[in-house]
Amino acid sequence: MTDKFNIYVDNAATTAVYPEVFDSMKPYFTEWYGNPASIYTFAGTAKRAIEESRERIAGFLGADSNEIYFTGGGSESDNWAIKAAAEAMNHKGRHIITSRIEHHAVLHTCEYLETHGYEITYLDVNENGKVNPADLEAAIREDTVLISIMYANNEIGTIQDIKRIGAIARKHDILFHTDAVQAYGQIRIDVKELGIDLLSASGHKIHGPKGIGILYIRNGIKIGALIHGGVQERNRRAGTHNVPAIVGMAKATEIADQRLEQDAEYMTSLRQHLVDRVLKEIPYVRLNGDRVDRLPNNASFSIRFIEGESLLIMLDARGICASSGSACTSGSLDPSHVLLAIGLPHEIAHGSLRITISPETTIEDIDYIVGELKQIVKRLRDMSPIYEDYLHGQKYVC
Ligand SMILES: *Cc1c(COP(=O)(O)O)cnc(C)c1O
Repeated sequence: MTDKFNIYVDNAATTAVYPEVFDSMKPYFTEWYGNPASIYTFAGTAKRAIEESRERIAGFLGADSNEIYFTGGGSESDNWAIKAAAEAMNHKGRHIITSRIEHHAVLHTCEYLETHGYEITYLDVNENGKVNPADLEAAIREDTVLISIMYANNEIGTIQDIKRIGAIARKHDILFHTDAVQAYGQIRIDVKELGIDLLSASGHKIHGPKGIGILYIRNGIKIGALIHGGVQERNRRAGTHNVPAIVGMAKATEIADQRLEQDAEYMTSLRQHLVDRVLKEIPYVRLNGDRVDRLPNNASFSIRFIEGESLLIMLDARGICASSGSACTSGSLDPSHVLLAIGLPHEIAHGSLRITISPETTIEDIDYIVGELKQIVKRLRDMSPIYEDYLHGQKYVC
């Protein structure tokens, strides 16, 4: 996963499948390949594997196993939750509340609903990326039918006050969905205690396979299907089960469950070492996101007078895989909507670097990254006319 020539620190984009996870999946490709919907005994092993996986994941979330539905990933779960809730509640109203810093799977789904007669309120966040619960309460209207606020942000790592948001939703009798794709596996989540009605999670962000996710739908919530067809998933999500991926996501969940506190402590201290060194040794850098309410694996920096894309290319040449903003926005010239929402001006948002570590990252990796980063930032700034102007301006000011 991490060797000398490939230091992978883009774990918010995707993660390596753990060898134990891969091993758990293998028999379901070649040995127990029967369609779990079939009635012969041979298919029973696959069917049982699905139900055990469902129980494992339900247990991790404090849910009942019949509240867990397997999907094709986090994006599908977000689409399903929002579109189906909007449709189910449309007799009551057509107003939805979300935030400006959601993943595109939520934001673009809301934008789609806007073209179908729904009204969306996009809540602002503070400079650390936090939604103010008082703003949420003030945005609630008679016709509000859904609140969708992410658990933890994929770019800046900020964790929201989900318990308070859940309590507000409950008090006003409004459905509450949370995109927990980044939080799942890094934070202990109890859906009942937090008042969550709908929750999305994904396999490949937790060292499981890609193309598998879950939607938690609290018992009693009546939302329809997104994918129509066969009777799988209690008639709510059609399509032959991706048995190996389901088993893999459950195995990754089991590992996360066993090691959560230990991994969180390890990653937090490693991340802190990275943040301390970068802020101390490289001038004109800020840390984005909340300092306390933050995912253990996330460090997001804005580095002034440099261009994020050039930085990533130069890091890549030194074997470092990192990101500037979300993976989906790389390649586009627009700065990340999240960095703009926390109030960064365009030119500063452009110079951003996201490093997301894993339990396999080492302190040697971090020290190597900081060493290379220092040299690269210096080189890029030496070539930058803006930096030159700034330094001159400084001289005259002083
Ligand atoms: C990755 C991610 C998604 C999308 O999940 P996929 O399984 O890749 O479709 C949604 N929300 C957040 C916060 C994510 O980080």
